[in-house]
Amino acid sequence: MRHTLFSVLIATLLLLVGTLVVNWQLWHSSDSDRAATAGHIARKIDAILDEARDATNTATRVALNGCSAQGEFELGTEAALQPHLRTIIILKNDSVWCTSLPGSRVLIVKPEAISDDNLLLMMPQSMVNGLPVLIFQTLIPDGKVIVSISDAHLRDALNSSFENTRFSFVVGNRVFDNNGKVVSLKTLSGVSATRTSYASTRYPFRIEYHRPAFFNLTRLMHQGTLFLLLLFLLSFTVAFLLRRYLDKYTTPEENLRKAIQNGEIIPFYQPVVNGRTGAMYGVEVLARWKHPKAGFISPAVFIPTAEKTGLIIPLTKSLMRQVVAQMRPIFGKLPDGFHIGINISASHINSPCFMHDCLQYQRGFDGKKVRLVLEVTEREPLLINNDLINNLNTLHSKGFGFALDDFGTGYSGLSYLNDLHIDYIKIDKSFVSRVSHIADSTLLLDCVIEMAKKLSLHIVAEGVETKEQLDYLNRQNITLIQGYYFWKPVSYINLIKILLSKSKEETVEI
Ligand code: C2E
Ligand code: CA
Ligand code: CA
Repeated sequence: MRHTLFSVLIATLLLLVGTLVVNWQLWHSSDSDRAATAGHIARKIDAILDEARDATNTATRVALNGCSAQGEFELGTEAALQPHLRTIIILKNDSVWCTSLPGSRVLIVKPEAISDDNLLLMMPQSMVNGLPVLIFQTLIPDGKVIVSISDAHLRDALNSSFENTRFSFVVGNRVFDNNGKVVSLKTLSGVSATRTSYASTRYPFRIEYHRPAFFNLTRLMHQGTLFLLLLFLLSFTVAFLLRRYLDKYTTPEENLRKAIQNGEIIPFYQPVVNGRTGAMYGVEVLARWKHPKAGFISPAVFIPTAEKTGLIIPLTKSLMRQVVAQMRPIFGKLPDGFHIGINISASHINSPCFMHDCLQYQRGFDGKKVRLVLEVTEREPLLINNDLINNLNTLHSKGFGFALDDFGTGYSGLSYLNDLHIDYIKIDKSFVSRVSHIADSTLLLDCVIEMAKKLSLHIVAEGVETKEQLDYLNRQNITLIQGYYFWKPVSYINLIKILLSKSKEETVEI
């Protein structure tokens, strides 16, 4: 689950970063396109103004030669032949001296009243025909030449953009937009702040436009569909591969933690029997990992990891909960005083939660007389201090029994026996398995049994596999037997079957 979440998180991050990069790329390209289009429009208007400049040269010549019929004809021809020009007017001493229109007519309401700026956008109300116009003016001795350019040509130039962007033509403090309106810049001051412009290097005007919004969903969906699709596939693949990689290269600790959380560590039960009668005395709880792929895994494989990493505590707690949940429904089938042994690691005993865990486990058996035994191995050293002795004594007084597991294999057994209340010792199978028909094969076991007897403790012999071993133990009056000779550790279901088949037998009295 954690791997899936992590992989999905990484894939989502990749998708987000990728989308951001694609969006930036599209924004950048749209921004560059707009700047390029503004430059293109400016160059078109430059070319139109070049016509006006050429016409001004003609008009200057006419102004020198006099406004004769020939002069008017030259102005008319110039205005007619230059595709974007409307009229050419020569003003002298503030009055119309010569024009390209027949009869010296002009379309400007008061040509003498307009300022001398080189380029000027005329408002519709200043024009006879009520249409805005761009004028190009050049001062000459005693007057000036005014060349007017139709608004239609400006509109055409501004509308030449393929993108759906509004470009405006700005001269001085007046703006002509692609709808053909002329407005004062002051009216647009709020809007203008969000705009950028491209200034002509040859004439005093600039082209203004809005820069594209950085994030635009429509643009992203329309222009980035393929990228987004690829990105999505890439993120999906990354998530899939990452998850597989994490699953493959997880540490044994992570695997075990997951297994405990998923309830894959389950209790098996190995009956402890009376070796003479075969009657069931109790069970020992033994952990099994029911792996979804690998099947049952032996505790020899995962208990060392659990002990090294501290996972033994949640593992044991989970087993205790499961044992309670499984035993409660079959209380009626358990003989009174039924012995239930569970293995406890040294690190758990030394942990602050130990007392609480044991008492909670015991509460699970309220209403049933069972003998809960905590098996403490002799292989691991216990950190014996006053707190620990007090805790174990308290548990003992509350009815818990203690067994010293793997007796004879460790180094601290005898000191435990002095300090703690030990009720049982479990003779390790390594001693029992030596018993054979060969003379002296029992030497070591004889010593261990003698020592245990001297300490007046109940003895459980583990790992009894043969009749020979059983007979020997019977002769030694060792009645509590655990081993494959009687039962292997079994699942809960099989334990119920065994209990049902034995329900008429009594528990072993020792
Ligand atoms: P243990 O506590 O000494 O448990 C007895 C082991 O001997 C069990 O091995 C049992 O299956 C095995 N055994 C019993 N009779 C025979 C027999 O006749 N022949 C042979 N060859 N083996 C027999 P298992 O279940 O593999 O457990 C191994 C060890 O893992 C246990 O030894 C115990 O030290 C540890 N362990 C198992 N479950 C837990 C647990 O829940 N907590 C802790 N802390 N340790 C556990
Ligand atoms: Ca044990
Ligand atoms: Ca043992």
